Amino acid sequence: MSDTSVLTRAEAAERHRLLGVRTVRVDLDLTRGPEVFGSTTVIRFGCTAPGAETFVDVKPARLRRVVLNGRDLDPGALRAGRFPLTGLAADNELTVEADMAYSRTGEGMHRCTDPADGEDYVYAQSFLDDGPRILASFDQPDLKAPYTVSVTAPPEWTVVGNGAGRQVRPGRWEFAPTPAISSYLVSLVAGRLHSVRAEHDGIPLGLHCRRSLAAHLDADVAELLEITRQAFDHYHRIFRHRYPFDSYDQCFVPEFNLGAMENPGCVTLRDDYVFRSAVPDTEREKRAMVMVHEMAHMWFGDLVTMTWWDDLWLNESFAEYMAHGVTASSTRFTGAWTGFAAQRKTWGYDADQRPSTHPVAPDTVDDTAQALQNFDGISYAKGSAALRQLVAWLGEEAFLAGVNDHFDAHAFGNATLDDLLGALAAASGRDIRGWADRWLRTTGVDTLRPDGDRIVHTSADGRPRPHRLTVAHYRRTTGGALEVADRTPLDLPADSAVIRPADAVLTLLNDTDLGYVKIRLDPASWRTVRSSLGAVPEELARAVLWGSARDQVRDGELAPGAYLDLVDAHLPGETSVHLVDAVLSFAREFVVDGAVPPATRPAALAGLARVCRTLLRRTEDRPDDTGLRLVAVRGVIGTAADESQAAELRGWLAAGTVPGGPVLDPDLRWQLLLRLCVLGAAGEAEIAAELAADPSDTSEEGAARCRAARPDPAAKEAAWQALFHGELSTYLATATARGLWQPEQAGLLAGLTARYFEELGPAAARRGPAMARVLTAVAFPAFAATDRTVRAAEDCLADPDLTPATRRGLVDQLDTLRRAVRARALTAN
Ligand SMILES: [Zn+2]
Repeated sequence: MSDTSVLTRAEAAERHRLLGVRTVRVDLDLTRGPEVFGSTTVIRFGCTAPGAETFVDVKPARLRRVVLNGRDLDPGALRAGRFPLTGLAADNELTVEADMAYSRTGEGMHRCTDPADGEDYVYAQSFLDDGPRILASFDQPDLKAPYTVSVTAPPEWTVVGNGAGRQVRPGRWEFAPTPAISSYLVSLVAGRLHSVRAEHDGIPLGLHCRRSLAAHLDADVAELLEITRQAFDHYHRIFRHRYPFDSYDQCFVPEFNLGAMENPGCVTLRDDYVFRSAVPDTEREKRAMVMVHEMAHMWFGDLVTMTWWDDLWLNESFAEYMAHGVTASSTRFTGAWTGFAAQRKTWGYDADQRPSTHPVAPDTVDDTAQALQNFDGISYAKGSAALRQLVAWLGEEAFLAGVNDHFDAHAFGNATLDDLLGALAAASGRDIRGWADRWLRTTGVDTLRPDGDRIVHTSADGRPRPHRLTVAHYRRTTGGALEVADRTPLDLPADSAVIRPADAVLTLLNDTDLGYVKIRLDPASWRTVRSSLGAVPEELARAVLWGSARDQVRDGELAPGAYLDLVDAHLPGETSVHLVDAVLSFAREFVVDGAVPPATRPAALAGLARVCRTLLRRTEDRPDDTGLRLVAVRGVIGTAADESQAAELRGWLAAGTVPGGPVLDPDLRWQLLLRLCVLGAAGEAEIAAELAADPSDTSEEGAARCRAARPDPAAKEAAWQALFHGELSTYLATATARGLWQPEQAGLLAGLTARYFEELGPAAARRGPAMARVLTAVAFPAFAATDRTVRAAEDCLADPDLTPATRRGLVDQLDTLRRAVRARALTAN
């Protein structure tokens, strides 16, 4: 968005040198209608160089009044989101009064109306630099201050903020001052909320959602509170600092762009996590992980905050690492590391092999626009995998001792990579800086390949990293099953040889998935995998093998058909929901809908359908297992292709149930209808009837997806106009984009592929970074895996006017597309 400036690192450093913020008081008025709200900020701050000048960040709809030390300043001096402040004194008081615009994209103060009951909700998302769309601030992580917030709201609303709040009279809320926090963490949530309150270990707890979800939240309250309590107890066992804020509210909010946001005492989570339909247990695990991740941020990020965005990983990698470890060891979701291996880590591996990769700890984040692009698989998945390596090398005790010393030294302040390394080095006596140079300052994934008794270790930059992991040898039992013959720890590069037992039929490097590394197999082991992958007894080892097959396809080393043969042979017997879900997703999205040529796609899709039907049969007598049946049902629906299968789906829809269960809930009904729409076996009449029967936002998204998916030029054009020229929320845009491209409709979509590259840039620029992510990550025509699409994407990237978020999204999609094109070529040969 071109009407506001991005803050550079140099500007932030200069402002930090000059200013110290003492207190911030904020008063918001949410009673001024659906377009704007009132915002008054009073900032008291010191200046080390009286007479100096600086600027305050404010991005209002209308700036009403600015008063500095009793002097009224001209509001017309506002330029590109910055208001200049001159003639500063040693002690200053700045008052800024403004009308602020509500947002429709989840950036700033988001406002939306629940279609289920017409209730309005608002929430504040200040991160990363959208705080000035809510209040005036010196908006950078290292100018922390205590915030005291008060809010005027409609009297029937509940308002939740960072500090503990109370309603002093109907419609008037006051919140306790926070400890010193960064401006990007200031938040509030308001509306006719459904609230559940509890307490644990002296900490007041709150769970909140919109009214129409009340019954669904209530159904899960016991689980949500149990996870919260277990995680607090775990953190209080391992950290010397207690939870640093006065209360802990978890607010499930509509149309939220991220998984969640770690606002101190007022965490916001996307309200898809209040499940309205049945979900596999893996999705409950994912929700638990998100909750535990945000709780870790109360220490990593909120208590001690990175000085500048180049150390984002000090927040995200730590929260991600903690989330997996704490979830696996302290909650019922003991398989959290399998989820990491099967699903989350691929996000890191993929990102790390793209042209847009960057070090976990980059030193080149020059401004906030660049910082926003680093919220990716590197900062989360790779960073946490790197920390897992660090803990394996240092031992947990030394690691936690260093971390606790780090918290003590910088509580309620800011810190850098260097500060953390100093604390870890002092606590462990090890060469942490050498480790950090290899792991945090470099890019790319190392590859390990057994060659006889040697391990061939290659890296992207020619300097292989140190790794601590395990290697397992498997042999056949007399019954023909596989069992571990031996498992050995390896410290690479020192232990570069493995002794293979004479009876070994499979050598598997990184079998416990401790490493962050790609593995390949020797030819004899690969033959064993092809015949017996499903017979490998440990779930983690199977995850590593499926992961290797996945990246062999992406690297152009394994033909898509050979991957599908593995799926056909070994997925029907798989018991891990994580693995079934991850393998089916990759097989469908990358392989069948991209890497397989159009001529053989119907056969490939039919193969996948067979696998899903076998899984469905296998789970016939277990309708309420932990999710395998639901994943199978979703798979059968999504792979339906011919008239008889469409008729079967129509039968399920009419009966309201899958034979043998489950009963169709809203999610399944909309998935069924989507597939029928794609196949031309349902249309507007069915969509309108479904929407009328359940007028919720789930249904609005379902309807948008179905309408965009219909094989009808007018339907495609309507979806296109809404997506590229309308004002859709990010959720409705996502739903529309998901419906639009269907490989079955390649002929109908041919013209739109070229048009996508023409209209992407202007549309994304008009609507900002969150929509740019939707338009690239979801709306990209990935199914058209041809040289022609590659060239069109390259031409589009040559446009110098693309915004940073659009460019980054397009670069990443182009990388996946090139890999699909390369895999397709492998099929042709
Ligand atoms: Zn996070």
